[in-house]
Amino acid sequence: MDDTLAHKGQREQLIEELRAKGITDEKILNAMRKIPRHLFFFDRSLEKFAYVDKAFPIESGQTISQPYTVALQTNLLSVEKNDKILEIGTGSGYQAAILGALGARVFTIERQQELYIRTKRLLASFHYPIMTYYGDGYKGLPQLAPFDKVILTAAAPYIPRTLLEQMKVGGILVAPIENGEQQEMIKITKISDTEFEQSRHGVCAFVPMLKGIC
Ligand code: SAH
Repeated sequence: MDDTLAHKGQREQLIEELRAKGITDEKILNAMRKIPRHLFFFDRSLEKFAYVDKAFPIESGQTISQPYTVALQTNLLSVEKNDKILEIGTGSGYQAAILGALGARVFTIERQQELYIRTKRLLASFHYPIMTYYGDGYKGLPQLAPFDKVILTAAAPYIPRTLLEQMKVGGILVAPIENGEQQEMIKITKISDTEFEQSRHGVCAFVPMLKGIC
């Protein structure tokens, strides 16, 4: 699929919209300028909505996150070049590609095999250091820990302890956490092996983080 001038123009408009919504980090906006979001729409009939600031269904009942949400989570992670980042919920791969474009090394887990296979192929075409894994994100990747940053892109009922353990001291975890009927964006900084600092960053809407693989 091509990245046409029309796509690029639509992407510029989206970036201006994100700027107006408070995303001011030029590095993040540049990463979003670089990554053609329409390539992550497996359903071609939805491709025309690729540069609308909304989440959209992909396949297997999953979604591609809203661009604003991707920018917000990326911002909260304070991504630095060469950061080793664990992502739970590869989905379309869009968030992983944005982190890759920022120079991070990304390790991303997906529990749905079909989606995992499809996205693995797509992400490989970007030639960023993004490693894809098929498995249950609740377990993380103990063999590759510790990570500088952890990002959950599915809503968890609680913050899995295993993931906090797989973070470096000074590391940051960003996750949508269920809170009654709503979900809230949470940022956790690991102060020491036993101390964590938490801040809240508004309501959001993600598909649920489920246990096991399928
Ligand atoms: N990061 C994605 C958004 C993905 S939607 C993007 O940029 O498009 C959330 C994804 O999390 C879904 O694909 C879902 O299958 C996956 N998921 C849910 N629970 C999971 C778990 N326990 N481990 C790994 N992936 C999980």
